[in-house]
Amino acid sequence: MSASEPGFRAEYACSEGCDFRASLLDVVYRCPRCEGLLEVRHDVAALRAVPAAEWKRRFESRFGSARLPDGSGVWGKREWAYPQLPVEDIVSLGEGRVPLKPLPRMASELGLAALDLKECGVSPTGSFKDWGMTVLVSAVKHMRAQGVPLRAVACASTGDTSAALSAYCAAAGIPAVVFLPRDKVSLAQLVQPIANGARVLSLDTDFDGCMRLVQAVTADTGLYLANSMNSLRIEGQKMVAVELCQDLGWEPPDWVVIPGGNLGNASALGKGFELMLELGLITRRPRIAVAQAERANPLTQSFRGGFKELVPMQARSTLASAIQIGNPVSFRRAVRILKAFDGVVEEATESELSNAAARADKEGTFTCPQTGVALAALEKLVAQGVIAKGSRVVVVSTAHGLKFSDFKVGYHRGTLADVTSRYANPPVQLPANLDAVREALSDLG
Ligand SMILES: *Cc1c(COP(=O)(O)O)cnc(C)c1O
Ligand SMILES: [Zn+2]
Repeated sequence: MSASEPGFRAEYACSEGCDFRASLLDVVYRCPRCEGLLEVRHDVAALRAVPAAEWKRRFESRFGSARLPDGSGVWGKREWAYPQLPVEDIVSLGEGRVPLKPLPRMASELGLAALDLKECGVSPTGSFKDWGMTVLVSAVKHMRAQGVPLRAVACASTGDTSAALSAYCAAAGIPAVVFLPRDKVSLAQLVQPIANGARVLSLDTDFDGCMRLVQAVTADTGLYLANSMNSLRIEGQKMVAVELCQDLGWEPPDWVVIPGGNLGNASALGKGFELMLELGLITRRPRIAVAQAERANPLTQSFRGGFKELVPMQARSTLASAIQIGNPVSFRRAVRILKAFDGVVEEATESELSNAAARADKEGTFTCPQTGVALAALEKLVAQGVIAKGSRVVVVSTAHGLKFSDFKVGYHRGTLADVTSRYANPPVQLPANLDAVREALSDLG
């Protein structure tokens, strides 16, 4: 049984413009001719044969389903992800279909017409990585079913990729191996792959060091590489763009702000908007702002130099540990997207990211430090006039704050290094005595 009408197909193509093509069943991560990254290329002419109104109707009707895979934010749009994948090989945990949470107070304080958080961390493993990993692990399940000899799937990670990989592999019954930089991921992130039964290798290096090792080991073994150079993940992550437009009645916002580390997610966002433009579901391009931690800002530096080059750096330790990356693998694809979407890059200090996260939390969300980077960049871009007053802005929230409880606790205790906690809300220490309690609440009336 096919996931969709026959005729919709996707394949690998070189993203650098040479004519290399490969089947999605092939184990290939880079173009063998030019070393460029691959992209999954859809038969857009076939997709265009379906009118935009019909795509919207189809997506919306599946969106209402409580059953998987239709109710998945990714597989409810499966013709645009991996169209020829048989339904029985889909590995879904119910990713996507997440809230678009308004922040009306912050919007009015900043003078914006609207500010919404696309809560991508309200997800099975607590981060947007689920949106991409469901496609990758489904593809591996399909490859194994077709007899491709893959023993396991492996990734290097700043935490969230390994959690997602481990959960989807556990669901599919496929062994997972994760390479983590010792002491550089949160305890919550470390325990997720452990709980899901992955083989966890804790290495005395940083993310970039783990990345070099996993690439070397997957080059000559039956291990499949799940890192973000693997373009299958982009096919799921691009649905963040599609879903947020759907949330807004297919009217894109003026700006989307997204935190960037390896830059796969920013690239995916642009790819989602481009497909909607090609198929006529939207007619206008939003602008894109990528936000980086000041301590891991190779894209910011490149942006300031007109994107002429990328100078890889040793990323310094930042609270935004998921974007502590000095040599982003998707640099070239992200620059192409930023140019196509009249994009900008802004950065945030430790204090700025922490306070911006806390400010948003006061409106009922629970943001991770990476989302804090995006919110701080938004504040700065509005102050600079780059994002005009009256704009409608969506900020992509990339993980659930519960994965970063040390960050939250430290912030409200006022113990984070290099952070002045402007919104600290520590508990009131009291004797268990009615007068003391009344006194402590007297200002509430
Ligand atoms: C992976 C990750 C990012 C960065 O995404 P890239 O695709 O590497 O740019 C941001 N935030 C969180 C929470 C992440 O897990
Ligand atoms: Zn090529």
